[in-house]
Amino acid sequence: MAIQRVKGTHDIYGDDSYKYRYVSDLFKAVGELYGYGEMTTPVLEYTEVFQRGTGESSDIVRKEMYTFDDKGHRSVTMRPEFTAGVMRAFIANKLYGNNDVPYKYYYYGPAFRYERPQLGRFREFHQFGIEALGLDSSYLDAEVVLLAAQAFAMLGFENISIKINTLGDEESRNNYRNALKEFFTQHIDHMCPDCKERLDLNPLRILDCKVPEDHEIAMEAPKMKDYLSEASEKRFYETLSILNEYGIDYEIDDSLVRGLDYYSEMVFEIHLLSSDGKDYGALCGGGHYGQLVKELGGPDMAGVGFAAGVERIVSLMDDEHLFDGLETGVDLYIMPCSENEVLKALEIAQYTRAFGYSTDTPLAKVKMGTQFKKALRKNAKVALIVGESEVENSTVQVKNLLTEEQKEVAMEELIPTLDQIFGEGSHHHHH
Ligand code: AMP
Repeated sequence: MAIQRVKGTHDIYGDDSYKYRYVSDLFKAVGELYGYGEMTTPVLEYTEVFQRGTGESSDIVRKEMYTFDDKGHRSVTMRPEFTAGVMRAFIANKLYGNNDVPYKYYYYGPAFRYERPQLGRFREFHQFGIEALGLDSSYLDAEVVLLAAQAFAMLGFENISIKINTLGDEESRNNYRNALKEFFTQHIDHMCPDCKERLDLNPLRILDCKVPEDHEIAMEAPKMKDYLSEASEKRFYETLSILNEYGIDYEIDDSLVRGLDYYSEMVFEIHLLSSDGKDYGALCGGGHYGQLVKELGGPDMAGVGFAAGVERIVSLMDDEHLFDGLETGVDLYIMPCSENEVLKALEIAQYTRAFGYSTDTPLAKVKMGTQFKKALRKNAKVALIVGESEVENSTVQVKNLLTEEQKEVAMEELIPTLDQIFGEGSHHHHH
């Protein structure tokens, strides 16, 4: 029996590999558009990074981490999210010295959570995200939401729904936590074992419990907005008024608390059902964090960011046909007519590759009919056919596979002919 892949992981190949690259490239480009630079951190971190960063009361740290002792008996963890690791890198590399605020980083790569695999939920998945550090500002909070909204618009999504809420400052949150504790203490006997633990760890976590009965009870719980300090309320409305100004639709959702411990003030998520009603869960989530950098041993500075789940976005884009027209495969397929021209075909392939045309050739004797099928499967737009007489005359048959037009072209005219067929910039492999 073939060896199976690890449960909850998936292989990415064929057209999917173009889709993942398209989405990650687009997010990276939007990051650059807003002045962010790429930060790549290790998959493995000391477990402490996430315990202190992501937070002891989060489901992630409590039960979803891939944690093990390495051979030197140090506890390491495969990152379940990026923010804590990016903060660790920011602090360890002392990137905060130059006062060039806000410090802006984006990241992309795999993350690992031991969750129950289901629609939109994997054990290895990919995230793109951003972090902006060192400027504590309602404007920056708003700009981060604008960036996320622009990325989704550029991917082709039209009706994203942005849910937004505020968790307030520390004082607001402490008051709110106490109120929640008082409220849930009366109901806790009827709630799930997780919630019983959450009551002491962090009663805010109870608000996003997925157990239906617990959810019912949570609906009756006190609301954050009644415990907000004046400053936090003002700050939140400043952010919202910027979103209004740029025509961003949002919905204030006071049950939105997010699953990670470090958030304060503004938090948000982006959701979208497919047209046939499929719900992959949040496509993206994030918010402001006041204490995280300090908690990990860095200076006292605020941050704001989000992470987007690339698997969910790719699935939804597939459902909504947003990848139609995506260019995959090669520009050219070079066809030797017989065994005698196989090497010549390689020579032509190397020549066209040198001009930036992505090119494939069979490197073996293959029937012409089969070669045309291969060219089709590879999405080649042009076939270059070489037989005995073409070798003799230093020419090649150029066949446009879309129009079926074919003509014999002298080798020195080949590149100009191809440039004409493909047009300036219309073949994505040609640089
Ligand atoms: P979080 O780091 O939990 O705020 O998650 C940010 C985003 O990552 C979510 O909105 C999802 O799109 C994605 N995500 C989180 N967990 C998973 C998972 N297990 N499988 C696939 N995507 C995930």
